Amino acid sequence: MIQGTFLTPNTIDEAVKFFSSSEGSVKLLAGGTDLLVQIRNGFTKPDKIIDIKNIRELQEIIDNGNGSFTVGAAVSGASLAEHNKFGKNWPGVLEALRLIGSEQIQGRASLGGNLCNASPAGDSVPALIASGALAKVHGPNGIRSIPVEKINLGPGKTNLQKGEIVTQFDFPDREPSSSDSYLRMIPRTEMDIAVVGCAVNISMDGDKCIDARIALGAVAPTALLVDQAAKIIIGSKLEDDVLNEAAKACQNACKPIDDKRGTITYRKKVSGVLFKRAIQIAKERALKV
Ligand SMILES: Cc1cc2nc3c(=O)[nH]c(=O)nc-3n(C[C@H](O)[C@H](O)[C@H](O)COP(=O)(O)OP(=O)(O)OC[C@H]3O[C@@H](n4cnc5c(N)ncnc54)[C@H](O)[C@@H]3O)c2cc1C
Repeated sequence: MIQGTFLTPNTIDEAVKFFSSSEGSVKLLAGGTDLLVQIRNGFTKPDKIIDIKNIRELQEIIDNGNGSFTVGAAVSGASLAEHNKFGKNWPGVLEALRLIGSEQIQGRASLGGNLCNASPAGDSVPALIASGALAKVHGPNGIRSIPVEKINLGPGKTNLQKGEIVTQFDFPDREPSSSDSYLRMIPRTEMDIAVVGCAVNISMDGDKCIDARIALGAVAPTALLVDQAAKIIIGSKLEDDVLNEAAKACQNACKPIDDKRGTITYRKKVSGVLFKRAIQIAKERALKV
């Protein structure tokens, strides 16, 4: 099981034990599509690597009924896409994962890795936040469940403590007439990082919106849950003026950087545009469920 500095635990307990007791720089490896690039580029030089792909719970997709799922943190986007029910209940989460890199990357890239890499532009993170998923975290002091939006603190920084591993994501029950969507803006047609990402998760009662969660990516140091925009649309029939007001709330929540890929003004504007497009898609899907 132990091969020099590359550890391959088969259980969560073993992985937590290795992770919490190891000295020096220790990194978890799920798909490795971020970690290996960072090692090659010299951004990180771990003394030890703990491969978490052999742990059963991290590879499981459990259908809990009522649209609720428990998904292992190391499940790849490709595996999740093959599940016969997950994408019907959480199409927005799946489409976010399916935007990551290429077919080859999606065969490895995991939800846990996308979240814990803590890039503000991670595509699945706004979708996870909008879904209301809880991250289950195992560590030397036990297990805790954390709303996904509380995991990341800033670029490359999480609030995970020494020895803690995200093991699973718990997606809540699906109410009738509920669905989600994710859209991102990239300067190229594919294989690029989001300049803005927007995830919408809504529940409808007829033509009235009765619940909503809206999240934005790549417009602040971490993905944002935009409660203000949700408050504006809940109780409405999603009329144009309501959506314009909520789009403004999205723009106001943004604290983007100004760089060659997008100015502050551009990113703010696009966040409102994506919100309005994403909500139409989520609404159409919700009304078909
Ligand atoms: C060519 C290419 C294109 C890409 N395109 C995109 C894109 O379009 N959108 C996008 O969002 N990303 C993109 N990425 C980045 C990457 O593929 C994703 O972030 C991916 O989801 C990372 O998952 P992984 O399993 O490979 O993570 P890994 O590389 O294994 O891990 C990433 C980080 O998270 C930590 N970690 C992993 N799992 C856990 C866990 N369960 N608990 C705690 N910490 C953990 C690791 O220690 C490491 O620090 C791209 C990468 C490449 C190489």
